[in-house]
Amino acid sequence: MKAMVLNRIGTPLEWTELPDRQPSSGEIRIKVLACGVCRTDLHVVDGELPDPKSPIIPGHEIVGRIDALGPGVSGLELGERVGIPWLGHTCGVCSYCHEQRENLCDAPLFTGYTRDGGFATAVIADARFAFPLGETGSDVSLAPLLCAGLIGWRSLKIAGDGNRLGIYGFGAAGHIVAQVAKWQGRDVFAFTRPGDTGTQRFARSLGVTWAGGSDEMPPEPLDAAIIYATVGELVPQALMAVRKGARVVCAGIHMSDIPGFPYRLLWEERQLVSVANLTRQDGLDSLGLVPKIGITVKTTVYALEQANKALEDLRAGRFDGAAVLVP
Ligand SMILES: [Zn+2]
Ligand SMILES: [Zn+2]
Repeated sequence: MKAMVLNRIGTPLEWTELPDRQPSSGEIRIKVLACGVCRTDLHVVDGELPDPKSPIIPGHEIVGRIDALGPGVSGLELGERVGIPWLGHTCGVCSYCHEQRENLCDAPLFTGYTRDGGFATAVIADARFAFPLGETGSDVSLAPLLCAGLIGWRSLKIAGDGNRLGIYGFGAAGHIVAQVAKWQGRDVFAFTRPGDTGTQRFARSLGVTWAGGSDEMPPEPLDAAIIYATVGELVPQALMAVRKGARVVCAGIHMSDIPGFPYRLLWEERQLVSVANLTRQDGLDSLGLVPKIGITVKTTVYALEQANKALEDLRAGRFDGAAVLVP
C-alpha cells in the first residue's frame, strides 16, 4: 500500500510505500476510494492535539470497499462500500461506554490521529466502527459526510430545536449543516470571516436567510448558534448574537483561547457547551437522512499525493466546501 505519512509534527506528509497489512480479529481492510480533508487533520499535522500516534497516516473521512475480513467479523461483506469515521474504537467497558456516551470513552482510538487513517490506498479499521454506505451517491461526495456531516449532525442536535440558527464558519461542516437545518424548516444565519463575500455568496446560494461577517450582528437575535471556526473570539460574539436562554455550541476539537468577556453575555440562562467526537448512533442517524434530504456537498478533488497542497489550501480558505483526496 501507499500512504501520505506524517513522520514528524510540522513537516510535510511524505509519500511512502508500506507493506500490506492483514486485518486482525474484529478488523477489516478497506481499499480507499476517497478520503475527505478535515480541519482536524491540520490540527494533527500542526501538533495542536496531544499524543498522536507517530508516524501517523492522517484522514478520517474515509469511503472505501472492504477487501479483507479479519477473523470474527460478521455483518459486513467483501466488496461492500463502507465509511470510516473519526471514532475508530472504544473500550466498551468504561462508564461512558456503559452510558451510551461512547463519544467520551476513556480509552478510544481516533482514525487518522491515534490509529492510521485514510490518506492512503488502504486502511485497517475496527469493523464495529464501519458504516455501510450502500451504493447511492459518489465516493467523493460521501466522504465529507463522515466527519463534517457527523459532527455537524451531533452539534445540530445539541443546539436544540430553535428556529433561528447561527452558523459561525461556513466550511465543510457549516455548508452541510445549513442544508440539514433548512430541510428541518429552520432559518439559517451564516457568519464568515469578515469581508469574505465569496463564502457569503456561497451560503446564500444554499438558501440561507442571511449571510454576513462574524463581526456583524444578525438582523434578529438567534435561538441557537454553532461555532465551527477555530477562533475563540467568536464565543463572546456568538453569545451576543443569541437571545435569552439560547445555547452556543462549540463544535471544533481545537480553538484558540477564548478572550475574557462580561458576565452579562452569559446571563439570562444562555448556555455555552462543546461537542466532542460522535457516537455510532449519530453516524447511523445522519447517514440515514442523507438520501432523504438530498444534500449537495461541494467538493474540491485532489490526488492523494497532493495531500499537502489540500491541507495548505484548507488552511488558506482557498475553496468552498470540502477537499477530498482520491488515490
Ligand atoms: Zn470506553
Ligand atoms: Zn474531522
